[in-house]
Amino acid sequence: MSSDLLVETHLSTAQYIELDEAHAAHTYHPLPVVLREGAGAWVTDVEGRRYLDCLAGYSALNFGHGHPALLAAAHDQLDRLTLTSRAFHHDLLGAFTAELAALCGMDAVLPMNSGAEAVETALKLARKWGYEVKGVSPDQANIIVARDNFHGRTISIVSFSTDPTAKANFGPFTPGFREVAFGDADQLAQAIDANTVAVLIEPIQGEAGVVIPPDGYLRAVREICTEANVVFMADEIQSGLGRAGTTFACDYENVRPDVYILGKALGGGIMPVSAVVSTWDVMGALHPGEHGSTFGGNPLACAVGRAVVGLLATGEFQQRSAVLGAQLADRLASLVGNGVVGFRSRGLWAGVDIDPAIGTGRQVCEALLRRGVLAKDTHGSTVRLAPTLVVTTGEVDHAIDALAAALTDLAH
Ligand SMILES: *Cc1c(COP(=O)(O)O)cnc(C)c1O
Repeated sequence: MSSDLLVETHLSTAQYIELDEAHAAHTYHPLPVVLREGAGAWVTDVEGRRYLDCLAGYSALNFGHGHPALLAAAHDQLDRLTLTSRAFHHDLLGAFTAELAALCGMDAVLPMNSGAEAVETALKLARKWGYEVKGVSPDQANIIVARDNFHGRTISIVSFSTDPTAKANFGPFTPGFREVAFGDADQLAQAIDANTVAVLIEPIQGEAGVVIPPDGYLRAVREICTEANVVFMADEIQSGLGRAGTTFACDYENVRPDVYILGKALGGGIMPVSAVVSTWDVMGALHPGEHGSTFGGNPLACAVGRAVVGLLATGEFQQRSAVLGAQLADRLASLVGNGVVGFRSRGLWAGVDIDPAIGTGRQVCEALLRRGVLAKDTHGSTVRLAPTLVVTTGEVDHAIDALAAALTDLAH
């Protein structure tokens, strides 16, 4: 490459942002901070300022930045073998799929890369199962989804989004989906007919603002799906792997779906690793050549994924999430009426509704940034808090102190 193609990389914050805006597609509206390093629960920007990371890569960084066990697994595998394609066996696929299946209490794992790909995979799997096992007539299958869902960005997935921004001008859309209200089991039961092959929900709706369904909903969905011979698919890409204080958000109601869809933290914040995990009753519907991915289940992904399963197998992170999550909820409760109109939380995961009289979610996140805490707004007035699961008691307090101070900043 000729040297005039290389760009100077020791710039000021403003210069980095200008360079991004000049050449990186404008599909995001980032906060004005340029990060260079991360360690544990903290990141450092290009000017040397430190921030407590309370977004954690939308929960891809549950184990923090640079967790030693994950880095060691990746480094070790980088030097050995990184990609084979699925044209050949490699020595880690069996171990990764066996260990992840065991964590899920399932039989079979189909590894992919991004979350959206895993969701697409689950949709294809459900349709295939519906036609070949359930006996639905050709091209008649329907899948039931919840309103205000977020499952990714592909054409088929945005086809059943109810967010106009995610959807507008991306048509024509994929047919075969029905929307029902999230949290309403009766509506779900009524929407099911003989051609329904699957119900796809997030057990907690993350992007919608950490929306938690009423108690008993997940259990009811489980019963309705069993009764109607419909595959219950839980998108646990964001809610799973320790975030909600349990291995899976479905565990809160002791419910096991037929299919878990996993991603984000499965790659340890190092690389994209996703998976569809199910029983053989369902996964058995897919045969050689019917689905695939060049990178899915590659040796590097399996090495990192195994290390992630290893961290979760101890239960330590789920425990931290539950205990520190209780502290987070306690502290947030003290802000209700003081700039916060309400909040929802489970484990180390909270959606905090900001009093519109104080400012927007975005303004609160900008004020938090100035006070050394990274968080992200959603849907105008909600601030989502999802620190890494390696935060300490003191750091949870620090985050809430900063939020209280940010709300005071804006009130004046
Ligand atoms: C992030 C997310 C996805 C999409 O994952 P990508 O890796 O961004 O494609 C799907 N479902 C849920 C619940 C998510 O949070």
